[in-house]
Amino acid sequence: MKKIQMVDLIGQYEKIQQEVDKAVLDVIRSAAFINGPEVKAFQSELEAYLNVKHVIPCANGTDALQIVMMALGLQPGDEVITANFTYVATAEVIALLQLKPVLVDVYKDDFTIDVAAVEKAITPRTKAIVPVHLFGQCAKMEELMQLAQKHNLYVIEDTAQAIGADYHFSDGTKQKAGTIGTAGCTSFFPSKNLGCYGDGGAIFTNDDELGKKIRMIANHGQSVQYYHDEIGVNSRLDSIQAAILRIKLRHLDNYAAARRAVADYYDRAFAGHPKVITPKRATWSDHVFHQYTLVLNGPDRQQMREFLATKDIPAMIYYPVPLHLQKAYRDDRYKAGDFPVTEWLCANVISLPIHTEMDEATLKHITDHVLEFIANH
Ligand SMILES: *Cc1c(COP(=O)(O)O)cnc(C)c1O
Repeated sequence: MKKIQMVDLIGQYEKIQQEVDKAVLDVIRSAAFINGPEVKAFQSELEAYLNVKHVIPCANGTDALQIVMMALGLQPGDEVITANFTYVATAEVIALLQLKPVLVDVYKDDFTIDVAAVEKAITPRTKAIVPVHLFGQCAKMEELMQLAQKHNLYVIEDTAQAIGADYHFSDGTKQKAGTIGTAGCTSFFPSKNLGCYGDGGAIFTNDDELGKKIRMIANHGQSVQYYHDEIGVNSRLDSIQAAILRIKLRHLDNYAAARRAVADYYDRAFAGHPKVITPKRATWSDHVFHQYTLVLNGPDRQQMREFLATKDIPAMIYYPVPLHLQKAYRDDRYKAGDFPVTEWLCANVISLPIHTEMDEATLKHITDHVLEFIANH
């Protein structure tokens, strides 16, 4: 059996190697490294795939969030509501721009932002909501959009973990994650569902004016070269990464199907077991399983991780510490105990390997040993 990894990027590369190698060499031979034709082509192909008017490529997912908040003109002191149970990037850019992060709890079974908690957190200073489509499925966008409309708020979707997922509206229509709010942000970090071979990111929006502004901010605040209308940043997706992403985008739906098949296998293996809670699939969203995350009900997570390591099975903790208990984000407004669901999840979650290259023997090896451990603990 191949060495088990959380993500097998080499196995995935080997299947598209000829195509990728040629595309990378073509960029090198063209020397169009920055803003070359590959970037333009990737942009329009992603616009078509997502059915969104504007895709603005940038350097990474964290920049994407920052650029959107700058383009929306958010001002120091403006409150931005986001989920406490998330990767730090979301809160980081809010803090960097001197906005005020307002944290709220998540649902315990699907890990997405709690809509009632968002509603409670809205004040006259609230300007935006940043739902995070965590681990591969969408937050409750329909309800969040209604709330945003009622209170005149922007919605910035953090789609770094859920690109390609469909959101299902109650009227039966579907829309891709990241294309529903005011703007959506994603990351092409190598281990993400659509990952490049370095850093990359993108912003999506259907708003023409906002799209223009985002593009300008991402490019030193200039609309015409050397004429700077705004203070911007330098955030670009390079042509080599765009060439790789064009190839991988064609496989994205198959990659998602492969991840879902892994999740199905895990779900079946752990079904009904009292000591593990499997991730719930939302009725309003597809799940593209960026992560497969169990919540342990009793067994010690660290011991389980150590036991699995002796069987060459990696497991990771996403995320071990809620934002309000992180040293850099301590705030008088919050104390331990304020976010019971997030704190419980941070103490009990464990993510198993999930990627596009897993075979049945590997999955059996993993589930057999997880079940063995929990049977004895
Ligand atoms: C990965 C990730 C980001 C940041 O993306 P980078 O490209 O690493 O900057 C932001 N939010 C979430 C939820 C992520 O998973």
